[in-house]
Amino acid sequence: MIESRRKFLRALPAISAGVALAPAPAIGATGKGKQRWAMVVDVRKCIGCQACTVSCIMENAVPDNSFRTIVSTYEVQDGKQCGTYMLPRLCNHCEQPPCVPVCPVGATFQREDGVVVVDGERCVGCAYCVQACPYDARFINHDTGKADKCTFCAHRVDVGLLPACVETCVGGARVFGDLNDPHSEVRRLLDANEVKVLKPEMNTEPHVFYLGLDARFEGRVEGEASLWQPSHHGE
Ligand code: SF4
Ligand code: SF4
Repeated sequence: MIESRRKFLRALPAISAGVALAPAPAIGATGKGKQRWAMVVDVRKCIGCQACTVSCIMENAVPDNSFRTIVSTYEVQDGKQCGTYMLPRLCNHCEQPPCVPVCPVGATFQREDGVVVVDGERCVGCAYCVQACPYDARFINHDTGKADKCTFCAHRVDVGLLPACVETCVGGARVFGDLNDPHSEVRRLLDANEVKVLKPEMNTEPHVFYLGLDARFEGRVEGEASLWQPSHHGE
C-alpha cells in the first residue's frame, strides 16, 4: 500500500468524530420509483479490516486522501473498561438530501430509486453540496475538480451486482437491497429490529441504517471528544 494511502487510513478516525445516533423512525415503502435502495450495517459484525474502504477505492478510482466509504475505529473508555468500536460510514442516500437543493446547476440529484448522484458533466465544482452535507460524505475530487461521493455503486447495481463494499465485506456486516421488496434482506432486518441512523435530528431521513450500536455510543453528540479516543488500528 502506498504511503499516501496509509496516511489516509490513519486519518480515518479523526474524520468521524462527533456522530449522534438515535432510533430511526418506522420505515415504510419509500422512494418515488419501484425500488428504493438502502443499506443496513450491522456494526457487531464489522472487524475494522477496511476491505470495504479499499474495494471502494479500487472500484471507483477514488483519489488519494479522499474516501467514499470509511470505517472509523474508536477506543471507548467507560470507567475502567475500554473497548474498540467500529463505525462504517458512507453517503446515506437521504430521502431529504440537503446536498441537492443547494446545487446551482442541478448537477446533483436523487434518482427515482433513491440513489443520490452527481452528473460530472454539469458539476462546476463549487462545493456547495460538500458544505451542505451534514455527514461529511462528499468531497471535491482533486483529479476531476467535480463533486464526488458514494453512489451505492449505481453502475454495478443497475446491472444486478452488489456495491463493491458489500461484496467484499469480510464480516458480512453490510446488507444492501430494495426496501420496497417485502422479501429483501434489508426489509426483513428493518422489520425485525430497531435500527438507528446518523444525526436523525437533521431530518434528512438517511437510508443507511445501523444495527447493534453499543449503548455507550448512542446519544453522544459533537463536543464530547473526551469520550472518544481515536485509535490508529486502521493502518
Ligand atoms: Fe447528500 Fe450527504 Fe445525505 Fe449523501 S449523506 S444524500 S451527500 S446529504
Ligand atoms: Fe452542484 Fe457540483 Fe457545485 Fe456540488 S460542486 S453544488 S454538484 S455544481
